Amino acid sequence: HSEVDPNAFVEERDYEAALRPKTLSEFDGQPRVREQLGLVLEAAMHRGTAPDHVLLSGPPGLGKTTLAMIIAAELGSGLRISSGPAIQHAGDLAAILSGLDEGDVLFLDEIHRLSRPAEEMLYLAMEDFRVDVIVGKGPGATAIPINLPPFTLVGATTRAGMLPGPLRDRFGFTGQLDFYDPADLAGIVEASAAKLGISIDEQARGEIARRSRGTPRIANRLLRRVRDFAQVKGHATAHRDVARSALELYEVDERGLDRLDRGVLDALCRLFDGGPVGLSTLALSVGEEIETVSEVAEPFLIREGLLVRTPRGRLATRAAYRHLGIRPPAAMPA
Ligand code: ATP
Repeated sequence: HSEVDPNAFVEERDYEAALRPKTLSEFDGQPRVREQLGLVLEAAMHRGTAPDHVLLSGPPGLGKTTLAMIIAAELGSGLRISSGPAIQHAGDLAAILSGLDEGDVLFLDEIHRLSRPAEEMLYLAMEDFRVDVIVGKGPGATAIPINLPPFTLVGATTRAGMLPGPLRDRFGFTGQLDFYDPADLAGIVEASAAKLGISIDEQARGEIARRSRGTPRIANRLLRRVRDFAQVKGHATAHRDVARSALELYEVDERGLDRLDRGVLDALCRLFDGGPVGLSTLALSVGEEIETVSEVAEPFLIREGLLVRTPRGRLATRAAYRHLGIRPPAAMPA
């Protein structure tokens, strides 16, 4: 989230592409979603039809894009990728839809950020494989229907609750991705290290897994930092101490909190006396976008029992004070 260096972005993108599992059986973790999705795909292939539209929801970096690519690969279908914010006008969506081939998979990331007209066009496309293109303006405008080949939409969203009901209802299957447990993450780090030819021992993999906030993207990123550190300091194999030193240098603490997470907690505890404080005030005080705080930092802090959302605003817990090593206010409930 705080990586604004364009080179860092390119490095991350290339690296992610190299590390993506290509098949459902290579995809570690998320056993429930994997089994459910496997069934949807197998049944559709059996019938020889395009599978139902799939909605994938969950926090960033848990594998939604990866799963969309796997769906296309497993079906042997073409894949088109776009995202809600990239589609400015309904016409942009019409162009994408009418360019699809039969059986293609269309991946729309951040589908909750589609504009209203595009969203309405999508309803018809999902249900009837048709779009109405409006030609002309005012009273002379006419709708020209265009038939589309059957396709499978894979939508991704960080929160399924943010989708309007009519859109959500048009997906035949929703896969709810959850944070990974450390054992699964250790397995992902092992697979990534093997693909990149990095020698890293089991304890070091565990250190990375424990500090990755349940997120494969972060695990892969931390692995990259540990690799850099080991390489520059001349360690042929990354052992536990190498991993610990590297992660300390990059300000990832024992529990996986990074600068942003600690910044949010710190502001909450020190500036606002533990809250309650509104999300936008909190975001402003750490100099971050509201969405970054609510979708990147908070889900993890809430899951760790460090922060709670209440109708009156965000509250720090006792555990938050303990984690920061500061004394909680005397009036704080136990
Ligand atoms: P965003 O919503 O931010 O785009 P995402 O949920 O689409 O995130 P991906 O881009 O699919 O996440 O995954 C991020 C990285 O994590 C990729 O490099 C991918 O290889 C890796 N990854 C994700 N899930 C798994 C998994 N189950 N097994 C192995 N690697 C994974």
